[in-house]
Amino acid sequence: MQFRDLDAQYEALKPQMDNAVLGVLASGRFIGGDPVSQLEGKLAAYVGVKHCITCANGTDALQLALMAWGVGPGDAVFVPDFTFFSSGEVVSTVGATPVFVDVDERSFNIDPVKLEAAVRAVDAEGALVPKVVVAVDLFGLPADYSAIRDICENHTMLLLEDGAQGFGGQIGDRTACSFGDISTTSFFPAKPLGCYGDGGAVFTDDDEWAALVRSYAVHGKGSMKYDNVRVGMNSRLDTVQAAILDVKLDAFASHEVDDVNRVADWYDEALGDSALTLPMRYDGMLSSWAQYTVQLPEGADRDALQAALKNQGVPTMVYYPKPMHEQLAFEGACEVPLPCDVTERLCKSVLALPMGPYMAQEDVELVAQAIASTIK
Ligand SMILES: *Cc1c(COP(=O)(O)O)cnc(C)c1O
Repeated sequence: MQFRDLDAQYEALKPQMDNAVLGVLASGRFIGGDPVSQLEGKLAAYVGVKHCITCANGTDALQLALMAWGVGPGDAVFVPDFTFFSSGEVVSTVGATPVFVDVDERSFNIDPVKLEAAVRAVDAEGALVPKVVVAVDLFGLPADYSAIRDICENHTMLLLEDGAQGFGGQIGDRTACSFGDISTTSFFPAKPLGCYGDGGAVFTDDDEWAALVRSYAVHGKGSMKYDNVRVGMNSRLDTVQAAILDVKLDAFASHEVDDVNRVADWYDEALGDSALTLPMRYDGMLSSWAQYTVQLPEGADRDALQAALKNQGVPTMVYYPKPMHEQLAFEGACEVPLPCDVTERLCKSVLALPMGPYMAQEDVELVAQAIASTIK
């Protein structure tokens, strides 16, 4: 069994996929061109925003958003303590200060009550200006955007949605990557919508920010490529990856999001009697299930369970073993106004199980049996 079965997806999409890649090879154009602009149009339409700007990866996408907003030294950027490193890394890259905020123990996403308290604490201290909230759609579930949006408006902060894991999720009839003032995603192969290499995208309804992101992504270009009006980056999505994503987006939109939700239902059912805490479901919210993450009961030996599952052919992963504020890279270079005890607990108790739209029900049952035979 694979942790995320990309082979089965390739098998299902092989004729269109091979065709798409060979088409780019035959065209002789490997950077930019029609496949990239067509994909950007399709992605923007799928998400329901005006602009999509593709770039080299999800980390660059976040950085480009912060650059477009002119975020830098003296600015506080609020980031969940329980996320992938990139969500906070980019804040330091642009010279601003990451302020880590604890998460909700059932949604795994930033806790709006603690966010409000953290913003007030930074405000009261007066050393940094609260500028941006990075809300992460962790494991595929959209963050609590109605509460987070209110906090941003009350404190005049911008909202950046890190939808690297959340692409395809929904709240009501709105799609993930449309909830931020700017939203971003990653096309890393194992993400909900992945390519066959690195890729990322920035989404926004704002014309001016879209133009700035486009400029920063291509060496701060002005009216043309050899006119450079600001210092930027070199961050582009390859034409080959764009052609691959075009094929994958069709499958994603037409059935993969439904399929992966069916797999999650099978897991809920198969693990319903276990000692595990299963991922929480929220009315009106759809997850794109980047991960199916369970919590082990207190005192359970996670290393032993992982080893036992591995022996039975079931791969698992720990996302994430360490709170952001404990990463050496942020030592002395971040703020943690309030304790992050939920994150600290989750880092010790979470376990991500094999997941993906092509997973068979027998495999879900095999995982459940392997777990049941190990933790009683
Ligand atoms: C994967 C990921 C990123 C970074 O994406 P890359 O394409 O790997 O640079 C950012 N944020 C989160 C939450 C992620 O999971």
